[in-house]
Amino acid sequence: MERILIIGAGGVGTVVAHKVAQVPAVFDDIMLASRTRAKCEAIAAAVGGTKIKTAQVDADDVQQLVALFKSFRPAIVINVALPYQDLTIMDACLEAGVNYLDTANYEPPEVARFEYSWQWAYHDRFKRAGLTAILGCGFDPGVTGVFTAYAAKHHFDEIHYLDIVDCNAGDHGKPFATNFNPEINIREVTQKGKYWEQGKWVETEPHEIHRPLTYPEIGLRESYLIYHEELESLVKHFPSLRRARFWMTFGQEYLTHLRVIQNIGMASITPILYEGREIIPLQFLKAVLPDPGELGEHYSGKTSIGCRIKGVKNRREKTYYVYNNCTHQDAYRETGAQGVSYTTGVPAMIGAMLFMIGQWQKSGVFNVEEFDPDPFMEQLNLHGLPWHELHDVDLEV
Ligand code: NDP
Repeated sequence: MERILIIGAGGVGTVVAHKVAQVPAVFDDIMLASRTRAKCEAIAAAVGGTKIKTAQVDADDVQQLVALFKSFRPAIVINVALPYQDLTIMDACLEAGVNYLDTANYEPPEVARFEYSWQWAYHDRFKRAGLTAILGCGFDPGVTGVFTAYAAKHHFDEIHYLDIVDCNAGDHGKPFATNFNPEINIREVTQKGKYWEQGKWVETEPHEIHRPLTYPEIGLRESYLIYHEELESLVKHFPSLRRARFWMTFGQEYLTHLRVIQNIGMASITPILYEGREIIPLQFLKAVLPDPGELGEHYSGKTSIGCRIKGVKNRREKTYYVYNNCTHQDAYRETGAQGVSYTTGVPAMIGAMLFMIGQWQKSGVFNVEEFDPDPFMEQLNLHGLPWHELHDVDLEV
């Protein structure tokens, strides 16, 4: 019997639980564990039946994790808690002999800085243990890496320019809310911009570079150059890239709120004293903002995320655009979660499934683009995230 353990009962965990339960031929024994067991139980009840077992675990505590892994004995852990828990869960995997998959790279709680170095440093230990670790298997990072690998494999001799474009044209009806964990999200979008050009990183002020881009079935949306984690692994694994950038759309209302939040100090992660106890302003802000997991019911519109690539094929310059559009209401009807959680949770399930059936297994720590993209692309079409491709079009970038 092949067991799977999901850690984290937030918006993404909700989607992963629904999706693994839809594939009983691969996942026949499922457990969902998180800090708050009641949240796991609510998700298990929404999935229905007795398909999902639940447990309480503090994923900051390696020994608690090891005890849980040894009693449930999963083949793989899907980590959809927060990036802060990546290393403790990887340590526990090594100690208990369990394979690993996540959707976001490690970030130390006390510094708003994410990079792969900490997790890549586990490569030799996973290799020696004969275990697989699949990093960044959500949408971005995740599908964007698979899209790039698929393009490089089938449509180019060399890829030179990569622009990842992420548009959320949805409307949740709230003046301000984030689409995934507010603390992680605000840390990500308020940092400086960064992109790769001619072999080095170029830094920009936050949101300094922006331009309108056209998204399929959506239209023109102002898109801002931000730094995103998959750029680090993609420029490493595709050294022919001369430039790699990431663009995300933001509305004016969102940016105004963000500016105010920063200006009044609420985005700070430096502890302050409040009524005699230490609090972190950004964590306090998270507590008063809408829960991203609750946005689904009134969310209209869709997301559109893809890769715009320029390179050469048969000595001829070629352009290629591969993307997925996901409708918030469809995601909500199927899983009770909005599109951003859905586009993250479905790829996590697919990565775990490919591991389970032996197609994505190798000893060590790997980013998604280091595996064969073909079976993943096939499964995206079958599990709710169909993709489309356009050849020799104006990429606008
Ligand atoms: P949420 O905040 O909704 O959920 C996180 C869950 O993790 C919560 O249930 C929380 O518990 C639990 N958790 C936090 N700390 C611990 C701990 N120490 N021990 C056990 N459980 C813990 O986040 P999301 O679901 O929105 O995001 C989940 C992950 O997905 C994040 O890492 C995020 O960065 C990533 N992500 C990746 C994307 C991609 O495309 N690659 C896109 C969007 C998100 P509690 O309920 O008690 O707070």
